[in-house]
Amino acid sequence: EKAVVLADDLTPAETVLLAHQGICAFATEYGGPLSHTAILARSMQIPAVVGMHGIQQYLRDGEIIILDGMQGTLIAGPDERTLDHYRNRQESERQRRLEMARLVDTPAVTRDEVPVTLMANIEIPEDIEAADRVGSSGVGLYRTEYLFMNRSVPPDEEEQYDCYLGVMEALNGKPLTIRTLDMGADKQVDGGSGRISSNPALGLRAIRLCLKDLSLFKPQLRAILRASAHGPVRMMIPMLSNTHELYQVLALVNDTRNALQRKSIAFAPDLQIGGMIEVPAAALTAGDFARHLDFLSIGTNDLIQYTLAMDRVDDEVNYLYDPLHPAVLKLIKMTIDAGNKAGIPVAMCGEMAGDPRFTRLLLGMGLREFSMHHTALQEVKNVVNKSSIALLAPLVQELLENTGSVHIPDRVDSLNKNSLN
Ligand code: PEP
Ligand code: MG
Repeated sequence: EKAVVLADDLTPAETVLLAHQGICAFATEYGGPLSHTAILARSMQIPAVVGMHGIQQYLRDGEIIILDGMQGTLIAGPDERTLDHYRNRQESERQRRLEMARLVDTPAVTRDEVPVTLMANIEIPEDIEAADRVGSSGVGLYRTEYLFMNRSVPPDEEEQYDCYLGVMEALNGKPLTIRTLDMGADKQVDGGSGRISSNPALGLRAIRLCLKDLSLFKPQLRAILRASAHGPVRMMIPMLSNTHELYQVLALVNDTRNALQRKSIAFAPDLQIGGMIEVPAAALTAGDFARHLDFLSIGTNDLIQYTLAMDRVDDEVNYLYDPLHPAVLKLIKMTIDAGNKAGIPVAMCGEMAGDPRFTRLLLGMGLREFSMHHTALQEVKNVVNKSSIALLAPLVQELLENTGSVHIPDRVDSLNKNSLN
């Protein structure tokens, strides 16, 4: 309790356990800010710094430290003046959050009256209440894999069904997007024992694992379908890389529907099924996916990882993480356009959606649905409400047409500074 934990690295499963034990911050020698460990820390509001090589060697047990998760710094043995400075910063951050909290009941609408949907990402049960409290329009990404962690036997259909019903109840009728199991890569059920693939992020992960191990997938499909009888549930498939995987999923959903019907078990016949676009191949062929789906959701964490060939958990290559890389922007734009053409909504649920520096850019690209960790929601709303799509769209269009000759970060900066946008 109240400890700052230093570690070589932490798995997401360990991070959840430590959070439940009441730690107040952590720093790791390895890992990137887009790892699921870092994402969890953000949503549980645990200050954290990852990828601090050598940190354990420099600190002694019991030492006073300042850990600043916003700047990514750690100060050992601070003097009184430094402590004062950080106490003031802590207080002004608290004030800023209080101010933002005033926006809770304000709808997200641009100055030219375009409504924007702001949803929350949830991982663990504690997030649900927070997602509701910040005034989200619902949950755009429920990472169900956390249900499967820190236990030796996966949850069965009944347990999952109860759990989904509990989340729906807490959401008071707001939509819940349940993502099917995205296990693998840095999220291992058993902490990573057993066969280790040499490229886990390219390995048997997410929908690939589910299609290989139907004993894992089928109970989840049944549980989601059964939950859909009780409220607005959507199902979302992670890491699709070809339409064949999608057809397999749709056939399994059909079989599950038939099986439930035969036993007179209720489900929503029109359960919406969406796909995550987070593999470049899927973005490039987003139209083919859109024809068979009810919605798309762009997972920028993986889309950036796979487009730029940079491992999101490897701090050595983290400098390559660049949401503004022209290739990434083009893939995002292609996906939004493909969704529009097919007449289905396109959301974004990667970390980029919760970064207010990118809100105007994304609005200008045509994005109207953002899902993010709950702590970012008011800030993104604040930007949305001060922006005008009519002014942003042509500027962003021009930017996308000239990615080779303009300095994109500068352009995005000026979009953000321009009070008329
Ligand atoms: C993503 O890849 O952007 C995403 C939202 O999924 P996850 O971070 O869980 O891989
Ligand atoms: Mg992903």
